[in-house]
Amino acid sequence: MDDGKLKDFILKNKIPAYRLGQIQKAIFLEAQPSFLNISNLPLELRNVLEKEIAILPFEINTILVSKDNRAIKALLTLKDGNLIETVLISPKPGVWSACISSQVGCALGCLFCATGRGGFKRNLTVDEITSQVLFWRQYIKSDLKLKDENLKFENIVYMGMGEPFLNWENVKKSIHELIDPKLFGFRNRSISVSTAGVVDKIEDFSRSFPQANLAISLHFADNAKRNEFMKVNKLHDLDKLKEALQNYLARSNRRIFIEYILMDRVNDSREDALKLARFLKGINNDKMLHVNLIRYNSIGFGLNPSSPETTQKFKDALKKEGVTVTIRKSLGSDISGACGQLAGE
Ligand code: SF4
Repeated sequence: MDDGKLKDFILKNKIPAYRLGQIQKAIFLEAQPSFLNISNLPLELRNVLEKEIAILPFEINTILVSKDNRAIKALLTLKDGNLIETVLISPKPGVWSACISSQVGCALGCLFCATGRGGFKRNLTVDEITSQVLFWRQYIKSDLKLKDENLKFENIVYMGMGEPFLNWENVKKSIHELIDPKLFGFRNRSISVSTAGVVDKIEDFSRSFPQANLAISLHFADNAKRNEFMKVNKLHDLDKLKEALQNYLARSNRRIFIEYILMDRVNDSREDALKLARFLKGINNDKMLHVNLIRYNSIGFGLNPSSPETTQKFKDALKKEGVTVTIRKSLGSDISGACGQLAGE
């Protein structure tokens, strides 16, 4: 819900200021799906709000649940007809994270990514970004399988469609809303932003949200390959990325997550692992870097996931070089809801 619009409405209609807090609590924290449910408001006000203000700025188009019940993907139709996707993931029993989109499509066009293949349409508004989280709060509350008092909806990751740092002003405002105790009330540490390497926004990110998490979608540790698969590298190459990460670590001393998807015979050789280790060890304070290896989720285009054996060998090679590394299980690939698979269709 657009909180600014709600505030304007309250002011314009001379509604007592304390009503604002009641409405915010009911909609954002309690995830009421309708103003009509807010029993401490006068009936007349509930009716007017219901008519004047949309709680969600999109229609729910489709919801898909993965076979293992650990990933749920929602396709959402925005008011202008554009489609976006958002995914709710359970990395461990009883704990859920939302992976949210920041743009319709993406201009960076990484060759392995379904979003990138579809091109860029527009930035999402602050309301369209935060409402994906609101939608999941409502879903968790209403879905019979997920209804559980002990369930923790803890983390928000900006890792869906789009490059968050290319819509930074809106993403920044959306994080402020997510951590506002009067609105969503998430902890700073529960927010993660993943960038393909738009380095010029990293400083503002760390100054604005010193406790939030930064993830880098690296995938290649040599400029030639990175240029071929990720055109962001032509603008911000590995040297610039290294400098930005060093500055980030010097300022925040927070761990940085390095995401590396493994594609068969593209970036999964021993030489690739050694290049990655060299790149990371060239960064001051490299002990604060944590590599997540993810087997590629195929979207066609002749790119395939590395085998489990190759993935393990890649991990072993990194470990031998002293790199902290984990193989991450990709959730939601059977519903095309895993990393790189969101296409908005
Ligand atoms: S991987 Fe991220 S940055 Fe690259 S095209 Fe996909 S959404 Fe954009």
